[in-house]
Amino acid sequence: MFDKAAKAFFHLLARSEGVKTLVSQYGMRKPSSFARRFIAGETVEEAIAAARGVEAQGLLQTLDYLGESITSMAEADAATLDYLRVIDAVKQSGVIRNLSLKLTQLGLSVDRATAVDNMRRILDAADGFFVRIDMENSPYTDITLEVFETLWALKYRHVGVVLQSDLYRTDEDIKRINQLGARIRLVKGAYKEPRTVAYQRKADVDAAYLRQMQVLLTEGHYPAIATHDPHMITATKRFSSERGIAADRFEFQMLYGIRRDLQLSLTRDGYRVRIYIPFGRQWFPYFMRRLGERPANVSFVVRGLLSEV
Ligand SMILES: Cc1cc2nc3c(=O)[nH]c(=O)nc-3n(C[C@H](O)[C@H](O)[C@H](O)COP(=O)(O)OP(=O)(O)OC[C@H]3O[C@@H](n4cnc5c(N)ncnc54)[C@H](O)[C@@H]3O)c2cc1C
Repeated sequence: MFDKAAKAFFHLLARSEGVKTLVSQYGMRKPSSFARRFIAGETVEEAIAAARGVEAQGLLQTLDYLGESITSMAEADAATLDYLRVIDAVKQSGVIRNLSLKLTQLGLSVDRATAVDNMRRILDAADGFFVRIDMENSPYTDITLEVFETLWALKYRHVGVVLQSDLYRTDEDIKRINQLGARIRLVKGAYKEPRTVAYQRKADVDAAYLRQMQVLLTEGHYPAIATHDPHMITATKRFSSERGIAADRFEFQMLYGIRRDLQLSLTRDGYRVRIYIPFGRQWFPYFMRRLGERPANVSFVVRGLLSEV
């Protein structure tokens, strides 16, 4: 379901104000609304309720307070304050302390030093947490890794990063981050990237993913194998068992609402599985990326819209 044309089409739709207004207006309105399949809700209370539900099934979780591509320092500051409130709420609730965030949410595209400062405010408050920096599209790869390395040099150790198998550069980036001793989440890559920087065929992305999974399991530091692809998952299970790599030396990760059957069967088999739970009012771009990955999802959105309007 890695169809390039579909991805391109949804990236185009995601830029349409009309689509955004329609989907945003109806997607989360009721408990049964269609966007709730992928997004836990707009408030931190709803996210914590979803986290409790996930943990009750023996799964781990990471909370993502959605937001990206902000264009002013004031917005970056507001997003950071929101994150500090999320941290407090998580502490009070007693759910697992694990967050995922994007650097453009904290001002990376406005001013790099501000993004570093905002990350430090979050990491200083995130006592007992692990904070994962998501990877955005390729114009941000270098700067995201540089910010990550800056934080590492400042001795923050409860922070990790994401690398995308569709980018040609990723084998080298894995070496670079492994040398630090830091944790990597491996994903296929959610963005439409040009052929100058990224593989365009699913078969090439899958081959890179398999190769990189093996490097991470043998040389990485508690890697996260983040995929819903049964072939990638079976290969990871087989490789770890052949090499005698214990199931607590890595974890699988999947997105909220996707392949719940697989999430539960892996946990039952004794693997660690962490669910990425997105929430917040800025859910539209995340939601459109999920539709672009699997065009079959569109029919349920259209049905959802028809039943709401
Ligand atoms: C925990 C987690 C964190 C992530 N963080 C990032 C990040 O920081 N940066 C980034 O670029 N990408 C991120 N991604 C997204 C990732 O790059 C892929 O776009 C996404 O996971 C789909 O790829 P796949 O590995 O599941 O394989 P695919 O080959 O795309 O899909 C395999 C199978 O999974 C199921 N599936 C996949 N997507 C969907 C969907 N949307 N709806 C329904 N079923 C689906 C289908 O059964 C499909 O056949 C993350 C993914 C996960 C699981």
